Amino acid sequence: MTTYHPLLDLPPFPADRYSLLADRLKTLLATRNDVVFVQAEAILALEAAATSLGRPGLVVVSIVTSPYGGYFGDWLRRAGGEVHTVQAEPGRPIAVRAVDAALSTLPRVDLVAMVHAETSSGILNPLPEIAALVRSRGALLVVDAVASVGGHALDVDALGIDVCAIGAQKALAGPTALSALSISPRAWAAMRPQPAPSSLSLLDLKANWLDRGRGVLPGMPAAIEFWALEAALDRVEAEGLVNVVARHARAAEATRSGVRALGIEPWETDPSRASALATAVAVPAAVEANDLIARARGFGAVVNPGFGKTATPLIRLDHTGQRARRADVLANIMGLGAALRSYGIEADISVASDVVSEAYVTR
Ligand SMILES: *Cc1c(COP(=O)(O)O)cnc(C)c1O
Repeated sequence: MTTYHPLLDLPPFPADRYSLLADRLKTLLATRNDVVFVQAEAILALEAAATSLGRPGLVVVSIVTSPYGGYFGDWLRRAGGEVHTVQAEPGRPIAVRAVDAALSTLPRVDLVAMVHAETSSGILNPLPEIAALVRSRGALLVVDAVASVGGHALDVDALGIDVCAIGAQKALAGPTALSALSISPRAWAAMRPQPAPSSLSLLDLKANWLDRGRGVLPGMPAAIEFWALEAALDRVEAEGLVNVVARHARAAEATRSGVRALGIEPWETDPSRASALATAVAVPAAVEANDLIARARGFGAVVNPGFGKTATPLIRLDHTGQRARRADVLANIMGLGAALRSYGIEADISVASDVVSEAYVTR
């Protein structure tokens, strides 16, 4: 007996569509650089970039605002790089002057690596300012835009990003196990071949896919992930990338107003330093973070623990991807409000929900 299952026996993803999909990602990133796929979640694409670019003596400035940035520096160090870390205050974006200071003290800098926006702490790093500094030093710029793509403006060529890593599962609301990298000619030229064929070698991917005319992917292409990425891009393009970015900005603004109406301040008071993907708030004194999270979830909010050694613990309200909508923002604010009230903390849920709705009124 044969039984139909929607996830099984899928048609293979047509070979001539890989290059079309890569070209659509180029448009999304506003780049003329090559775009290659990595058939894995984005953390592996980042490790592949570090492995391919790293070499003994490479002088790196690694900007760290989350564990992801830390791993990237570690991988470059593993490959023999001389890695100088510039670490932000816990839960805060990097200060441009800290990067400037690091760049000015080093006689030579080959590569600067940074994360654009963080979901883990809800911050936005000052990418245009740092990109300008990096350009003036002539170093390669590697940007982890996994979270920010679709959530913030990201103009790869205008910013001069040499390697840009993206995933589809955050703001683009697509599949998790397929990621992509844009790679400039300079970055290709800086890469070293690995001693043996390697899934972490981007030069192998270049030789086996780009240099062969971008037909069928090397290895076993994951049809289900490619169909899903295509569907996600269809949806993003139908909405319009600028509208997707604007929807995230509005969700962030509405969330910030909503938490203020509940009587708490967003952790990052300057909206230009906050990511549009998640909003971090400090946990009120006398409340335990994980207990607050559990209660807020019980009331329908999507809340996660903040990360990093901040002075007060943080929780993050999620408004990424398809959740960057009024209904989800409202559910978060009402859930958080109900959780606060369950401790006897005064929080006016109806005023807060009015404030969220107000943020969605178009005039
Ligand atoms: C989610 C995320 C990653 C890792 O992506 P995965 O696909 O989950 O491996 C890397 N960097 C940033 C900034 C992220 O938000």
